[in-house]
Amino acid sequence: MWHTSAVRSDGRDEELHRALDEAHLRAGRWLDSLASRPVRAAADAAAVVAALAGATGERLPERGLPAVDVVARLADAVEPGLVASPGPRFHGWVIGGTLPAALAADWLTSAWDQNAGLVATSPAAAAAEHAAARWLLDVLGLPAGASVGFVTGGNQANFACLAAARHAVLARCGWDVERDGLQGAPPVTVVASAERHVTIDIALRYLGLGAGRVRDVATDGQSRMLPADLRRVLDGSVGPTIVCAAAGNINSGAFDDLAGVVELAHARDAWVHVDGAFGLWAAASPSTRHLLQGADGADSWATDGHKTLNVPYDSGFAIVADPAAHVGAMGSSAAYLTQSAADVRDPFDVAPEFSRRARGFATWAALASLGREGVAELVERMCACARRAAAGLDAVPDVEVANEVVFNQVVFRVGDDDERTRAVGAAVCRSGDAFVTPTTWKGRAGMRLSVSGWRTGADDIDLTVAAVGRAVAATRA
Ligand SMILES: *Cc1c(COP(=O)(O)O)cnc(C)c1O
Repeated sequence: MWHTSAVRSDGRDEELHRALDEAHLRAGRWLDSLASRPVRAAADAAAVVAALAGATGERLPERGLPAVDVVARLADAVEPGLVASPGPRFHGWVIGGTLPAALAADWLTSAWDQNAGLVATSPAAAAAEHAAARWLLDVLGLPAGASVGFVTGGNQANFACLAAARHAVLARCGWDVERDGLQGAPPVTVVASAERHVTIDIALRYLGLGAGRVRDVATDGQSRMLPADLRRVLDGSVGPTIVCAAAGNINSGAFDDLAGVVELAHARDAWVHVDGAFGLWAAASPSTRHLLQGADGADSWATDGHKTLNVPYDSGFAIVADPAAHVGAMGSSAAYLTQSAADVRDPFDVAPEFSRRARGFATWAALASLGREGVAELVERMCACARRAAAGLDAVPDVEVANEVVFNQVVFRVGDDDERTRAVGAAVCRSGDAFVTPTTWKGRAGMRLSVSGWRTGADDIDLTVAAVGRAVAATRA
């Protein structure tokens, strides 16, 4: 039976509490195991599909199960397929863990089950996003008047920001793109690094701007846009223009010369968008802040909560300097729904979703638990761990670090050999001792090591380097 209705006279629902207690127990066990369990998943997806079928039968049961049994069976079936990505030696892609306060706040978010679309549906959710947004702008060194949309991640943040950009550059030509669409509109030119993140292309596809129409800017050896080439491309561009720059290249971690980009672009009335999914957080530390010099002069910024800040999935922020452009692109015209207090915006006016999860609680909790100093220390520790990894890897015979480590990203190669590089990366992951991911950078195979989790310390980096060393030795002829 799906619910036994064991509600006591004081309102306590015994079945609900049994399910929550089981979840609490399972969560604690998982979190306690992160440092010692193999980093990779023990089971592949097909095995987990089979385990789920084993837990309940393959067909949807005719009669539902008690909640506590559902939780236990789910956890038993899927746990072998979990990756210890919140753990200390997971360095794949760019994936953060979850800070304790953010995790607990996220549990409450589910329990509270608020619809964060409107101030009216949850004054608390809107207020938490409002308060967290002020802190975000402060810690990221961005203009205090900017609007912040709470979205699922960098992809949606790029989308919302570029929608605001599309709105603004066409409005300047007298074109209302929200009303009239792109058919017959003045052509919009998008200028971006040849090594932009793929989600910029995805956003341009969603926006009808065409990923294939981007005018590429050539890059230097560290994947930064070449200022001279940006100037050349801009000189050849007429009409409404959007420039996409990067704060943190996905491979090298390098930052475009943002002050230079802003100056060149604004001289031509172009909009500047910064994809800073993980790198925008360099602003939080005095030791890395210089990487973002001039970033505050851009028009929009995309960043993640679930990477550097270590908020649970999913969490991203679409930040726009001119709230009118942001609301112009994302806002619901259904003004009758809106009863917001004067200074707290309806969250759905700056995000692609209508009804959605109240992501502000976990972000607020993460920032409150760290404080300004804690955010700086988190960023500094990630950078120090990346530098330690690079130094350690460079000392392994046959291993070469391919990038200048300016932030949290390290790219390494083995024996100047694409095949051996891939084999070593795969062996490290198979070992369960650490996890790195393959990439292709500058036309060559590389393994990417990202330090994005709050749990990673110097000792973990040494263990990861040792795991690479063993894998390299095993491939030595
Ligand atoms: C991760 C990432 C994205 C996409 O963010 P998601 O949170 O995965 O949607 C965009 N740009 C860069 C540079 C990234 O690292």
